[in-house]
Amino acid sequence: MSLPLILGAAMFGGAGATFVPRVADRLAVPRGTPARITCAHCDTPTPDWVRAGGACRCRPAPMWTAGAGALAAGLLSWGLGASPALLVLLPALLLGVLLAAVDVRCHRLPDPLVGALALGTVLPLGAGAVLAGDPGRAGRALLAAGLCGTAYLLIAILPGHGLGLGDVKLATVLGFVLGFAGWPAVVAGLVVPHLINGPVAVVLLLTGRARRHTAVPLGPSLLAGALAGLLLA
Ligand SMILES: [Zn+2]
Repeated sequence: MSLPLILGAAMFGGAGATFVPRVADRLAVPRGTPARITCAHCDTPTPDWVRAGGACRCRPAPMWTAGAGALAAGLLSWGLGASPALLVLLPALLLGVLLAAVDVRCHRLPDPLVGALALGTVLPLGAGAVLAGDPGRAGRALLAAGLCGTAYLLIAILPGHGLGLGDVKLATVLGFVLGFAGWPAVVAGLVVPHLINGPVAVVLLLTGRARRHTAVPLGPSLLAGALAGLLLA
């Protein structure tokens, strides 16, 4: 365990995540709607994507995105140590924070973001495994992606389930990353999201922030579960 590495990663994650609120605010729109060009709260024009702190001058700097980015990056570097995979997964983790923020706001995981996460993880991890003379690892990751994607697709087509296709796509990409780490990570990544989402739904119900049939976004739990899987493996 290297304390400078963990602190450096946590600073990267925390600093990077301060840029999330503006992008999330612009992308948290209904399906088929172009990205927002005004603040969702005060209608001030927000044409730029890059802004550190709150999404708009009218919004406070959201502590949870920076905190989540710092904590997740610190944990990831603690779990993976100084490795090529860490270099790939730290930037991917910022995309994960962004996906979670958008999902919480509008119950969507936009395809371009999930696609960017796939490009940023599947290509470098797969190519890295092949170049390192371990193509079996890339094969295992592909198999895990297929298994996770199929499992979530089966749940999604069950009637009355709040799972969307965005969740299925995200689970497929995360399945690849977890498969790259190993089968124990895949199992944890499949189980942990539901251990998180169940209690979250109960808390939201008890605090009156959700009703019985309100869908609780699964994306944040999928991402947290994948992080847990990487740490447990
Ligand atoms: Zn505003």
